[in-house]
Amino acid sequence: MSAFYREKVLSVRHWTDTLFSFKATRDSGFRFLNGQFAMIGLEVDGRPLLRAYSMASANHEEELEFFSIKVSDGPLTSRLQKIREGDTILVGRKATGTLITDNLIPGKRLLLLSTGTGLAPFASLIKDPDVYERFEQIVLVHGCRQVNELAFGEQLVQKLRDDELFGPLLSEKLSYYPTVTREPFRNRGRITDLIASEQLFNDLGQTPLDKATDRIMMCGSPAMLEELRQMFEQRGFLEGNHTEPGHFVIEKAFVER
Ligand SMILES: Cc1cc2nc3c(=O)[nH]c(=O)nc-3n(C[C@H](O)[C@H](O)[C@H](O)COP(=O)(O)OP(=O)(O)OC[C@H]3O[C@@H](n4cnc5c(N)ncnc54)[C@H](O)[C@@H]3O)c2cc1C
Repeated sequence: MSAFYREKVLSVRHWTDTLFSFKATRDSGFRFLNGQFAMIGLEVDGRPLLRAYSMASANHEEELEFFSIKVSDGPLTSRLQKIREGDTILVGRKATGTLITDNLIPGKRLLLLSTGTGLAPFASLIKDPDVYERFEQIVLVHGCRQVNELAFGEQLVQKLRDDELFGPLLSEKLSYYPTVTREPFRNRGRITDLIASEQLFNDLGQTPLDKATDRIMMCGSPAMLEELRQMFEQRGFLEGNHTEPGHFVIEKAFVER
């Protein structure tokens, strides 16, 4: 048995010069937990060229979706950004990752903190009815440099708000907080600053950070994650993993090479 599923690209959407998303068929045998990632890629010169990708689709959905960066000299994404409907991608059979609800101690409010393509695992998690069962409030924060980089997330949230099942759940429980650092916008600033200054909670009309009730998942640049980790640890939050659940869990959105 091959280590990969060979899936067909169903659609591709380019959001900016550096971001695109695509949907692909999903083998019925490919199982994952919402928030996990898998190795995906292309066959290049007869060999698999693979990178870690979070599933942006939820595990109850028939199709797979991914939200991707375009790195112009990146071995995979210089090629992947050219895929078209009908092309074949490789999807590794095993999904893994720490951004799963079982790695968190039960709580009341779930903060999903992301930058850039770090939104992808949360795109999956906000489509998971179980997340709305476990938490009373969910706050999705997406930080980017420019307003147009928010479009994938904005459309996703709008689509869920219009959905028969998710619409009522979102209006009751989900707060969506997009923020940018390099352009005028209704929310501005880095996630670390917005939390440290409590502006995030003030803007949302919610209570400040509280270890007793808040649980956190974060996915973004390695530098941003390190800053957030230090900030939360200083406040007594403990990192969770597969062996011991904690107050927060972390996944890198990419690795610096
Ligand atoms: C757990 C995990 C999950 C991931 N999920 C996704 C995902 O859902 N979507 C996605 O686009 N990428 C994701 N990545 C990154 C992905 O694995 C690749 O790095 C990316 O597709 C670029 O591949 P490449 O071969 O073109 O360039 P690489 O040689 O892999 O990367 C070259 C450089 O580009 C920069 N870079 C790479 N990926 C990103 C990114 N996503 N955002 C900003 N800068 C980046 C880094 O500086 C890196 O050193 C994930 C990485 C990890 C570790």
